[in-house]
Amino acid sequence: MALMPVEEALRKVLADARPLPAEAVALDEALGRVLTEDLFALRTQPPAAVSAMDGYAVRASDVSQAPTTLKLIGEVAAGHPFNGQVEAGQTARIFTGGMMPLGSDTVVIQELVTCFGDSVTFQKPTAKGRNVRGQGIDFTQDQLLLPKGHRLSDRDLMLAAAMNHARLSVHRRPRVAMLGTGDELVAPGSKLRPGQIVYSNGFAITALARSEGADVQDLGIAHDRIEDIAAAIRRAREHGTDILVTSGGASVGEHDLVQRALAAEGLDLSFWRVALRPGRPMMHGRLGAMQVLGVPGNPVSAYVCAFLFLVPLIRQLSGRKDTQHVPERAFLGLDLPANDERADYLRATLARAAKGLIATPLPAQDSSLMAPLAKADCLLTREPHAPAAAAGSNCVILKLGL
Ligand code: AMP
Ligand code: MG
Repeated sequence: MALMPVEEALRKVLADARPLPAEAVALDEALGRVLTEDLFALRTQPPAAVSAMDGYAVRASDVSQAPTTLKLIGEVAAGHPFNGQVEAGQTARIFTGGMMPLGSDTVVIQELVTCFGDSVTFQKPTAKGRNVRGQGIDFTQDQLLLPKGHRLSDRDLMLAAAMNHARLSVHRRPRVAMLGTGDELVAPGSKLRPGQIVYSNGFAITALARSEGADVQDLGIAHDRIEDIAAAIRRAREHGTDILVTSGGASVGEHDLVQRALAAEGLDLSFWRVALRPGRPMMHGRLGAMQVLGVPGNPVSAYVCAFLFLVPLIRQLSGRKDTQHVPERAFLGLDLPANDERADYLRATLARAAKGLIATPLPAQDSSLMAPLAKADCLLTREPHAPAAAAGSNCVILKLGL
């Protein structure tokens, strides 16, 4: 198979990834999820006219001239409506959120009032309707406020609660399973024997998947044996995984280990080898309903492939429309030579200057180097065959998270 352009590979990954079915979740589970139904208000807010201040509820006609004295007939607090009616010459003490008593139409703030027993003297006139929040000024019953397909922000959860919804119908979270492969790998915190290294790339990939809203299962580390890898693949399928991510077993000579294990389980391979650096041995296929992304073992390659392919796939399965990373403009911090036939994703730092962001590729770009990856703020993208570019010229970056 020839090298596949990144855009074409991404199109294939997303080709038939339909948003996952709906599930009802509690509000505190709904942040970042996408609604599968239009959401209508189940109530009006405020449900009746209420006071916006602490003060006195009056008839405006009684306080159009000042000073004037009215008779105190009762008290209204939020949650404690007043049963009586404010007649001409009368007033009721009222607190913020208190329901306007019948007959009253205006609230005079307490700073403009003096009280002696049940005599309340108003020092200044107040215009009709002042300090009153009308019924339904926020929203009214049956109003469509959050449409189907909308992704829920923290403020949306506040609004949905106020609309009196306790549970929301949203697309199910994609289930991602992460499998590392390699005889040399041991878990962090282990005592290492000669030749061993620490399994690391999966920690970035699972964290990235979680931050995108996926449910992640860690399948651990499989040895470089087809049976071992196949057993883990079967576990992923039994778990109802939507996206299996394998790492490793991808360098030349060894590459068909993961692929052979997947083939034995019935993989429908869509591509292998992308015109990409780092990450050329990237693989994608389907095993029944499960999508499989085979990323290389080298940590930087693994991460870049997950960033470029796994993230958009998770977003699309979650029902999001904004599936793609948003490229941003920056200025190159140093000269770059012409690029070859592979798209390049250079690890770079960002600095803010008066004219905009300056992106400076880190000096070491080998795909095994985790320290520069951790230091990077962005991936500086270079098209295949991009000409040499001088420091200060425009470039395109993809910002990395947290
Ligand atoms: P592979 O794709 O299996 O040939 O691995 C390529 C390189 O990445 C080798 O040097 C591996 O030791 C290393 N590697 C593979 N898997 C991991 C992993 N999960 N974490 C860190 N390094 C890895
Ligand atoms: Mg390996």
